[in-house]
Amino acid sequence: MTQYLETDVLIIGAGGAGMYAAIAAAETGANVLLLDKSIVGRSGATIMAQMTVAAAVGEEEPDDWRFHLKDTIAAGRDLVDEPLARILCQRAPEKIWQMDEWGVGWARSGNHLTQAHAPGHDRKRCVYVDFLNTGPATARTLRNQVRKYDSIRRVSDLIVTDLVPQDGRAAGAVALHLESGQTVTIAAKATVIATGGLTSMYNRNSASANMGGDGYALGLRAGAELIDMEFVQFFPIGHLAPRMTGMDPIMWDPFRYKLGGRLLNGNMEEFTQNYGAPEDGKYVVTRDAATYAIFKEVEAGRGSPHGGAWLSFEHIAEADLRAAFGPVIDRLADNGIDLTKMAIEVAPIAHYHMGGLRTNDSLATTLPHLFATGEAVGGANGANRLSGNAISEVFVFGELAGRSAASLRHGAMPNIREAAAPYLAVIVEAATRTSDGTAPTAAIAALQNIMQQDVGPFRTAEGLRRALADLTELTDLLPDLPTGGAKAFNQQMADWFGLRNMVLVARTVATAALARTESRGAHQREDHPGLDEAWTYNQVISLNGDEIQSSRGEVRRLAQEELV
Ligand SMILES: Cc1cc2nc3c(=O)[nH]c(=O)nc-3n(C[C@H](O)[C@H](O)[C@H](O)COP(=O)(O)OP(=O)(O)OC[C@H]3O[C@@H](n4cnc5c(N)ncnc54)[C@H](O)[C@@H]3O)c2cc1C
Repeated sequence: MTQYLETDVLIIGAGGAGMYAAIAAAETGANVLLLDKSIVGRSGATIMAQMTVAAAVGEEEPDDWRFHLKDTIAAGRDLVDEPLARILCQRAPEKIWQMDEWGVGWARSGNHLTQAHAPGHDRKRCVYVDFLNTGPATARTLRNQVRKYDSIRRVSDLIVTDLVPQDGRAAGAVALHLESGQTVTIAAKATVIATGGLTSMYNRNSASANMGGDGYALGLRAGAELIDMEFVQFFPIGHLAPRMTGMDPIMWDPFRYKLGGRLLNGNMEEFTQNYGAPEDGKYVVTRDAATYAIFKEVEAGRGSPHGGAWLSFEHIAEADLRAAFGPVIDRLADNGIDLTKMAIEVAPIAHYHMGGLRTNDSLATTLPHLFATGEAVGGANGANRLSGNAISEVFVFGELAGRSAASLRHGAMPNIREAAAPYLAVIVEAATRTSDGTAPTAAIAALQNIMQQDVGPFRTAEGLRRALADLTELTDLLPDLPTGGAKAFNQQMADWFGLRNMVLVARTVATAALARTESRGAHQREDHPGLDEAWTYNQVISLNGDEIQSSRGEVRRLAQEELV
């Protein structure tokens, strides 16, 4: 027997964007169901982000949202959805002040907010919360606000397995309650997908386990369109070894820029100059050049022991290290890392996804009554995202999606008892498969290897075709993989549903990457180097039965006078 719930606004995913959307929807008077497959407000990428938030607040030096927009469009290499990017850049400052009022605790110098100069921005634009604490402080602040509204029901451990479309619109969802093993049906006047990105589909990533692209698959299966799926951002010097817990795997970047960390190959030699990117003692090689050089050194057998490069700060005086790293030095010591005596290993890791659900300016997807927010939205960053824009997106798009969804609260409540039946049947059927066989976790590991090897930072037609064939095999395996049955806390069942989404989403990434025969931003084709103007359009992905279809979409532009 399934539990049946009704709500004005259903929000799937309770990271930063989901929580912001819940607050905005509740403020209008809507009832909200905010759910998460893990713990509400304590999972996903938001709480892991430890650094910067980009907004033209102009506290450190004069700034204007138009300058921020110009930088965002330039970074996105001509594929940015400009109206969405404008919303992002124009509204980011007011959200920074809203979060300030709610007590997030932005770092201050004297009487103004401190702003850092991150790569790709033309000036000091990124606010943050002391040392490596931006994500946790953001999540805590939003949790505190969410708690103030009785109209926001919060449910943890609830995995949405499918949306329920009815009469050509989104009408709710079905879910599996991990804690009890029970199914739940949720009828909703409007639904918001706030499930974050897809980077845990790669075996080297900065993600938590629950960032496997669920929202993209949910939307796609229900009839919504995706955009720009080929653009997965890799971060060149993600932490690789030794093991480090409780710290951001991408934390090395600002310290490398600030202090001049040396990037060395397995022979302890500098190597980026061999790929046309000399460091010249300044250590400012761009992300794509560093990724390429590390990739090639590893390929040539000159990588570090775990298959990356060394990053060394050993030449820096201990006092300078302590001054720059602050309390981070002690956290590193807790992990057995002493930068005065040892280099650490780094490697390119999947970090963010520029693609996602295709939306209009209200964040409505192409399926009526379905909205998207946060990293689940595609287009605003085009082919490459600027540092700090993702958390701004969480705030700005969170509020916008919450308000847009809540505007539908005066409509009739859909009755989805019948429409939900086939989707519930998928859960019930999955629960019958208790046989032995390849565990879903092993299949997820196989998928991560396929993605890393053939759909990673550098791609070829041969590799992408191989990936698509391998992914088809994995898809065919799905019905035979054991799920462990219907019982409480069945992680195997959760993994099976995660894998079901991952294989579909992985196919969309590989399909779009194969079609795009050029190199642009985060999509680099070794067999098609260089940008091709003829490819200046978005790829739109839809599902027809089991078939993934891709078509060309015009990039949405602002009028020239709106850009200045
Ligand atoms: C280590 C790290 C550091 C980063 N640093 C920065 C930074 O300094 N600056 C910056 O701008 N950006 C940074 N980013 C990117 C940024 O943090 C993310 O883009 C942003 O937080 C995404 O927020 P979100 O709310 O969209 O998704 P998330 O915060 O990822 O939340 C998504 C939620 O959805 C839930 N969910 C997923 N699927 C389902 C389902 N089927 N059913 C129910 N719930 C589901 C998940 O459990 C999760 O809680 C960083 C990312 C990482 C991983």
